[in-house]
Amino acid sequence: MAIQLFDSLSRSLQPLRTPDPADPQDLFTFYNCGPTVYAPAHIGNFRTFVVNDVLRRLIELEFGPGKVKHVRNLTDVDDKTIRRAREEGRPLAAVAKQWTDKFHADCDALNCLRPHLEPTATGHIREQVDMIDVLMQKGNAYRAADGSVYFKVSSFDNYGRLSRVKERELQPGSALAGKSQAADADEKEDATDFALWKAHKPDDGENAWDSPWGRGRPGWHIECSAMIKKHLGETIDLHTGGEDLLFPHHENEIAQSECCNGVTFARHWYHSKHLLVDGAKMSKSLGNLYTLDDLVAKGFSPMAVRYALLMGHPQKQLNFTLDSLHAAESALKHLRSYRDTLVQRAGNMTAKSSRLFDDVLAALHDDLNTPWALGELHEDTRVHKSDSIAPIHAAADLTSFDLVMFALGLDLRTPALKADIPPAITALAEKRWAAKQAKDFATADALRKEITAAGWSMLDRKDGYSLEPLKKT
Ligand code: AMP
Ligand code: ZN
Repeated sequence: MAIQLFDSLSRSLQPLRTPDPADPQDLFTFYNCGPTVYAPAHIGNFRTFVVNDVLRRLIELEFGPGKVKHVRNLTDVDDKTIRRAREEGRPLAAVAKQWTDKFHADCDALNCLRPHLEPTATGHIREQVDMIDVLMQKGNAYRAADGSVYFKVSSFDNYGRLSRVKERELQPGSALAGKSQAADADEKEDATDFALWKAHKPDDGENAWDSPWGRGRPGWHIECSAMIKKHLGETIDLHTGGEDLLFPHHENEIAQSECCNGVTFARHWYHSKHLLVDGAKMSKSLGNLYTLDDLVAKGFSPMAVRYALLMGHPQKQLNFTLDSLHAAESALKHLRSYRDTLVQRAGNMTAKSSRLFDDVLAALHDDLNTPWALGELHEDTRVHKSDSIAPIHAAADLTSFDLVMFALGLDLRTPALKADIPPAITALAEKRWAAKQAKDFATADALRKEITAAGWSMLDRKDGYSLEPLKKT
């Protein structure tokens, strides 16, 4: 069963390339743009990483674990990381380490497999300089007076193929041009050109490296091109990220890599859509940004967060609500009890897969349709009762079930939510938190009384709250 996946470049469903099973050197090469490590990743970021994790698992199941090489980078130098280090008076490396460790801890809690390699931008300065050097020699890049180096967009005829961005849309002043220009100002020959190397500015502090064009630091886009070339080669099988990366980041990666290497950069492009919160775009200013810790503090388990992030089709934006987490907790409870019954019925028996859950795998193979897969899973576990079947059949169903749990990355051994917080209590707590944020303290106090009367204690923190059941006296 081939994996069919939407390809953002051709805008059609395409099968993934199958590596040659007889050639041990022929691996399926998979690159996923990773996080910028200056703050905790929010659950929107984790939608993208969880979807990519299901993809990685599915590819492993399809081609064999030894036939896949998965690389995901860490952006540990850019405007945001440098600003954060400056604000906190700490070295950039210390900030990057803190948030890389936190990212790893959250990924582990969400049961995301580690990529085979996690290269960093600061660990690949030489490779980035080498690539820029080739682009300079080939006439695709130029050095501006201040020592910055820019990619000359007009030198690459295919520029805009991925995002269908038209020349006129990239004129100075347009929204798209603004997106591509970011902070690099007037030194460019053309508004659409983008930075490959940024000359040192006082705000960069000690975060600068030597290059043939003077001291500075790499632009953001070149890191992925350079790391991919080094660790996966000039043409890769699959390149992925969230929808916001399509332009300008991935468009620029294609331009840099194809001009430098002279071959197709990625055979397949996959972009998953954004997570919204309560119908609105997740953002700090709206105060609707959730981290994994926020949700755990509300009593939800990381596995329920993973499940909820898979409840929508990755090719559609997903509205995240606390109600979806309650639904996810109860779905997981059902799956745990289904599996426990199979284990009991199977006893010591082991058996080859009954293929009972093949329809779940089929849904995933069909453009990673996770909501369909979860629907099939529930249908199968409700229709095929596990409490009355013969041990040999229970063992075969268990093998089939565990295979799809692996594909979805649902680890049923992790504990359920800390305390079974009734949805009504969560709703009261949300209302009270909103009232407090709006400085409507009378309403907040009245709601606290209601919550206490219902047997719960709401503990406020600076950035959120947690709920604990009141001890019975
Ligand atoms: P960043 O750390 O900002 O570089 O983002 C890491 C990944 O998260 C990228 O693949 C982004 O496309 C993705 N991303 C950012 N915001 C969201 C969101 N609200 N929903 C889904 N993915 C997102
Ligand atoms: Zn990238």
